Amino acid sequence: MIRYFLSGILRCDKCHHGLVGHAYEQGKIGRVIRNYECPRSDRGGCGGTSISTPTTDRAVEEAMTASSASSWNARRRNSKFSNVLSQTPATR
Ligand SMILES: [Zn+2]
Repeated sequence: MIRYFLSGILRCDKCHHGLVGHAYEQGKIGRVIRNYECPRSDRGGCGGTSISTPTTDRAVEEAMTASSASSWNARRRNSKFSNVLSQTPATR
């Protein structure tokens, strides 16, 4: 399953542009490498940062599991289901 749920959240530590997810097929074996990368300079970044997506996602997932009340995670959920929530009377 391909996912880049940290796209737009992670920042390049050199130019502070948002990192975006990229996938590459490696050689002929068909193995897919996934990275979060700073875009090249013609796209507003510096191209100087690249981190492994699976490693980063796993680390963040573990952190979120440890604190499921993470506020930004709750916000993401709220925006995803905002149409459902808007039909439910506010309870507080
Ligand atoms: Zn950068």
